[in-house]
Amino acid sequence: MCRHLAYVGPPIRMGELLTDPPFSLVRQSWAPRRQQHGVVNADGFGVGWYPERPFVDPSGPGRAPDTGPDPRLGPAPDTGPARHRGAGPVWADETFTELSRVIHTRALLAAVRSATVGMVGGQSVAAAAPFRRGPWLFSHNGAVGGWPATASRLAWGLDPGVLATLEAPTDSALLWALTLDLLARGKAPRAALTEVIARIQDAGGGRATMLLTDGRSITATAWGTSLCWRRLPGGVVVASEPYDDHPDWVEVADGSLLTTQPTDGADDVVVEPLPISPGVHP
Ligand code: GLN
Repeated sequence: MCRHLAYVGPPIRMGELLTDPPFSLVRQSWAPRRQQHGVVNADGFGVGWYPERPFVDPSGPGRAPDTGPDPRLGPAPDTGPARHRGAGPVWADETFTELSRVIHTRALLAAVRSATVGMVGGQSVAAAAPFRRGPWLFSHNGAVGGWPATASRLAWGLDPGVLATLEAPTDSALLWALTLDLLARGKAPRAALTEVIARIQDAGGGRATMLLTDGRSITATAWGTSLCWRRLPGGVVVASEPYDDHPDWVEVADGSLLTTQPTDGADDVVVEPLPISPGVHP
């Protein structure tokens, strides 16, 4: 089971979210407090962040520097998230600490991974969240039941070309490909993640607490593993578990969908039940 965290709001130093708090994501990689599956999250890590000021690639107006054109996603954004990942434990990665110490960002998504048993061949940096395409960052905490036999049922309808270029042979990478496909077909993030959960249930069930951000909004599901959120000045953080004991942390009920776009004002966090019958969490 992994631990992950997303933030959207005014620029904040990454370390304030990832390394400094008493029960930070780095600490959660070796001593999580709310994790029920797996013990240590040492099979990879990643952080994706959106530059404090929009970055415009000099090679072309409106081109994200490292995503390449994907016609299914419409016009490329003029700013894309940067990313740093590793295949091993985050506590052994000097660069993660250094980036956290100095970089300010208006949105980020970070994760530490405990590889699910059976994710054959998935012990690589490519299997570490956040997954990224265009403006999107995504992570999945959980496990699809019956993997890999269930993969074909989940992937139903996906272009074989998408499957052939799956980023890693893991359930998370397939859920990411599904999400991206739904977004590319014009679904809103809320509808896309709801459909992904429905598909998991159709395929036999599983745990899928997912985080999806475009740098302005966060959409998340709580499906079989812990999730909570907290307001920060002008922003919102959504995480597997609280990184400190501040009373403002709010637990998200299992079976819920959370959406937030902090610039919208006071009612900026909406938590609603997923319109899917109760989860089977094998
Ligand atoms: N099943 C996913 C993987 O192996 C997610 C792991 C997790 O949540 N621990 O990457």
